Amino acid sequence: MEGFLESVRYYVTRAVEQLDLGDRMEHELLTPRREIRFECTLPLDNGERATYVGYRTQHDDARGPMKGGIRFNPAVNPDEVGALASLMTWKTAVADLPYGGAKGGIDCDPRNLSAQELQRLTRIWTDQLHDVIGPNRDIPAPDLGTNAQTMAWVVDQYAKYHGWSPAVTTGKPLEIGGSPGRDAATGRGIVEVMRLALADRQQDMAGTGVVVQGFGNVGSWTARLAAIAGAKVVAVSDITGAIRDPDGLDIPHVFEHVRATGSLGGYPNGESFAGSEITAEPCDILVPAAIEGVLTSANAADVQAAVVIEGANGPTTPEADEILRERGITVVPDIFANGGGVTVSYFEWVQNVQRYSWTEDRVNRELQERMTAGYHRLTSEAKAAGSSDLRAAAFRLAVGRVAAATRLRS
Ligand code: GLU
Repeated sequence: MEGFLESVRYYVTRAVEQLDLGDRMEHELLTPRREIRFECTLPLDNGERATYVGYRTQHDDARGPMKGGIRFNPAVNPDEVGALASLMTWKTAVADLPYGGAKGGIDCDPRNLSAQELQRLTRIWTDQLHDVIGPNRDIPAPDLGTNAQTMAWVVDQYAKYHGWSPAVTTGKPLEIGGSPGRDAATGRGIVEVMRLALADRQQDMAGTGVVVQGFGNVGSWTARLAAIAGAKVVAVSDITGAIRDPDGLDIPHVFEHVRATGSLGGYPNGESFAGSEITAEPCDILVPAAIEGVLTSANAADVQAAVVIEGANGPTTPEADEILRERGITVVPDIFANGGGVTVSYFEWVQNVQRYSWTEDRVNRELQERMTAGYHRLTSEAKAAGSSDLRAAAFRLAVGRVAAATRLRS
């Protein structure tokens, strides 16, 4: 299977067939509601101009306003945005949040742009889309290459057209309506899934060997919270390479190094090795937490973990998924495993709509309750089908819910 979008379509089609929903429903669920592509020409600080392409794909809104991040990355393209938007539809459905799915981005490299340039670019993106996003239409959030500051600019630009509406985005800074716990939420959810998956195997976190591929928001929070929970994080990587220590890395120290220098490169304690080899590291749990297409038919046979928890969106190709299952490795799929982020986005949106804020304890407690209930729902769906395939179970749950809402509204 070639592309990312094709893989997601394959999982949806398989669920439609297993649920016997028919060709007409399949076509409706696969077709994005709206796809927007536009020029973003940015005046640079040096007086030159640079032209990028901006995107927003609104995949489905049968269950509520569409929801999904904005990605600033040179690899952003229509296939990727379409796949990620579709994954958001299934992710919000599997978490039973009252949302549909969307995704957007700009094909720029944010590392080569100044804060002023990023601000201008974010405002250009918002100018193009302000009429089709909104608290009851489509609610962006951070993704690769964007953060709370990006969301603040979107909120500010949106306010110029529609008045003060913090619920237009989630993942905002706390000072303008962000939620406590949102920054850590995806990692916290993943560590919760880790605990649940280990309990199923009569194991606990103490001393469990964890490998995290990717050290951005999701990877770094996963590593930090797993270490706090007693796991031994034996290897981590980012785009500059990987580091390992079979006795467990000092994750707070690694994090400080990354905060001070911008990357893992040059980290003094621990053995460095090629980032591309990290998926073959000996461990109990492997968390791919960077980008799509990391576990493929070329390296799935080398995975040594007993459990793969997908922190990234689409890190495993369908071929690799098959190989891992045949090898008896449990794969907890992206649309469930990394849903802690959008779940706390939902809490943030609820707080904004109600003009009422929650404590961080309440956010973390309700996140934990939802991840636990979701995990049990997912594993019992798989068990009922006599299968260990959690991805197929997650897609059946999600596609069934979206199809039911679609039918009721048509
Ligand atoms: N970008 C994140 C994701 O892929 C968060 C989306 C959101 O909170 O809306 O799930």
